[in-house]
Amino acid sequence: MFSKRILQLSPSQTVAIDVKAKEFKRQGISVINLSVGEPNFVTPKNIQKAAKKALDQGYTFYTSPAGIIELREAIAIKLKKENRISYDPSQIIVGAGNKQIIYNIFQVLCNKGDEVIIPIPTWSTFVEQVKLAEGTPVLVKLKPPFKLKAQDVINALTPKTKILLLNSPSNPTGAMIDPDELKKIADIAVKKNILVISDEIYEKLTYTQKHISIASINDEIKQHTITTNGLSKSYAMTGWRVGYAAGPKEIIAKMISLQSQMLTQTASISQYASVEALTGDQSSIESMQKAFAKRRDFCMKQLDKIKKLSYIKPEGAFYLFISVEKLLGKKYPTATLWAEALLEKEKIAVVPGEAFFYPGYIRMSYAASDEDLQEAMQRLERFVTSSTQ
Ligand code: PMP
Repeated sequence: MFSKRILQLSPSQTVAIDVKAKEFKRQGISVINLSVGEPNFVTPKNIQKAAKKALDQGYTFYTSPAGIIELREAIAIKLKKENRISYDPSQIIVGAGNKQIIYNIFQVLCNKGDEVIIPIPTWSTFVEQVKLAEGTPVLVKLKPPFKLKAQDVINALTPKTKILLLNSPSNPTGAMIDPDELKKIADIAVKKNILVISDEIYEKLTYTQKHISIASINDEIKQHTITTNGLSKSYAMTGWRVGYAAGPKEIIAKMISLQSQMLTQTASISQYASVEALTGDQSSIESMQKAFAKRRDFCMKQLDKIKKLSYIKPEGAFYLFISVEKLLGKKYPTATLWAEALLEKEKIAVVPGEAFFYPGYIRMSYAASDEDLQEAMQRLERFVTSSTQ
């Protein structure tokens, strides 16, 4: 009955764990949910107000499938000012979250058998979406500290390589690509005529170095790059579903055609709220960034006390990718079983490394409240002690 496409799809493990944790909470069980990548802050007041105003003004109709022009102009200004890339609004498309935007890109670009290079550990959605587009994911295994190098890309190239996927800072490791490597990667992509999808959703959450957009390096690589981003993480707007892409006009035009047949557009009210997010007061964003930096430091300090766990200091995003390899054995042979026991026994939800094509690890989000993180670290220490006994 079902299509081959859907039969080979692995559903999002992160979403499934998040649903389970939220269900525990609903039943009154005190679960600390460090699974899904979602800031615990509510959307800033000025953005909420803009949404209410849009409702009062009756902006409740369909919009252009590319997104309202005010938002595309705001995105163009943002990309110029913050990322040093110049785009005309006609080179920008708005969609229902960065997830849907990336789905759209693969549908527009992949033919059967086209290879897409994806460094792992990775957000599993990239891989599943390539499969849905009948492309072939080529997984490039990175070793700690998980920083993609030009040589990794060279090693993965074949005559069928069509796209290189970049996600810096990365989900799940928080690793960033160093600027000199990024330049080399840009040169390879241009020389080999490969398209680059650069998912920059964590660009504002960096702790050690500033984020650089690959498309800003020179005009040639800009012609080969589709830059994607969204408002979910940086503006605490996960539920509003707003993401966007900017790139060569002919690619964006095809994405708009597809969007016109599959979605029409993301919610009109979310779009008006997003104009305020990008153009209005940015101070609450800065205070959220500071809170994440503080939480990262707190979690690292606590983790350092748990000798059997090891991790690489995240340079960005809000995740810790923690090796539990020393704790695996007879009792818990895999990270998935270890994470399940952690949820069952200590009521902490994290995502096992298998969900990122990287067994032996777990991903813990620190986009949670200070109190939750304090409690979680105590429970985690207790669980580690008990799981080694
Ligand atoms: N890209 C990456 C790397 C992510 O981690 C996520 C969220 N987990 C997304 C895209 C999706 O974001 P959005 O809410 O905009 O769909």
